[in-house]
Amino acid sequence: MLKVVIVGCTGRMGHALLEGIFADSELALHAALDRADSPQLGKDAGEQCGKTTSVKITSDVNAINGADVLIDFTRPEASLQYLAACEAAGVKMVIGTTGFTPEQKARIAQASQNLGIVFAPNMSVGVTLLTNLVQAAAKVLKQGYDIEVIEAHHRHKVDAPSGTALRLGEAAAAGAGRDFEKVALYAREGITGERDPDTIGFATVRGGDIVGDHTVLFAGTGERIELTHKASSRATFAVGALRAAKFLAGKQRGLYDMQDVLELK
Ligand code: NAD
Repeated sequence: MLKVVIVGCTGRMGHALLEGIFADSELALHAALDRADSPQLGKDAGEQCGKTTSVKITSDVNAINGADVLIDFTRPEASLQYLAACEAAGVKMVIGTTGFTPEQKARIAQASQNLGIVFAPNMSVGVTLLTNLVQAAAKVLKQGYDIEVIEAHHRHKVDAPSGTALRLGEAAAAGAGRDFEKVALYAREGITGERDPDTIGFATVRGGDIVGDHTVLFAGTGERIELTHKASSRATFAVGALRAAKFLAGKQRGLYDMQDVLELK
């Protein structure tokens, strides 16, 4: 059995991951961590899923010792602390957290020289496939079609555009043969002037309990192509993250994404 640690275990994704672990006979919950000021510390980690387990929610990072994989859906600063702990303890890591700066991403890449890491802003199988489809479409539609990425999420999301939207933008840029950093346009306001055909624009919607919608629009003359994914439950991300954890069982070191996990490369 693969021994798995969940950090951020009382969060929205933490809950979905615990449900997924309890439903999978190949996975065992080794430890469940959350913030030092969480009111849930000391409670049975299974309680929120109606289960009784021997694992109590803790903030003690030593609890990860002896585990195979740690799954992190928290906040970037917390993820980097767990990354250091995983390096010290030799525990592989699945990172689903979003909102990292380029420097923080470089730190993750550096750690992967000695540690197996799956790092993906969206762990759903559908979005992973969508990323491939967007890259293929952009290759064909790179001239005469304006590329825009539109995303919608629930009111509690703290980063924008979503990590998935950025990943889709990168895929579109790669397909169109453009440098993403140079062409990404994150917001428009006021007298913007006409659209630069090379840009890849982003539009963000926040509201209610939307789990996550993403559309990549290719707007040409006389036609539009829209590639859309809509997540209706966090279970889809949890299923992907647990699949990533199993994938890492066979990897000593290296940085992988969901394309690797799903063998889409
Ligand atoms: P959430 O706010 O519901 O949960 C975050 C959890 O992390 C909370 O339990 C919080 O207490 C905990 N946390 C924060 N700092 C911590 C620390 N220092 N130590 C331990 N725990 C800490 O958020 P969420 O909706 O579950 O999303 C979490 C992250 O995952 C976000 O970055 C979100 O964008 C990302 N996300 C990624 C995917 C994906 O497929 N990759 C899918 C959904 C959400």
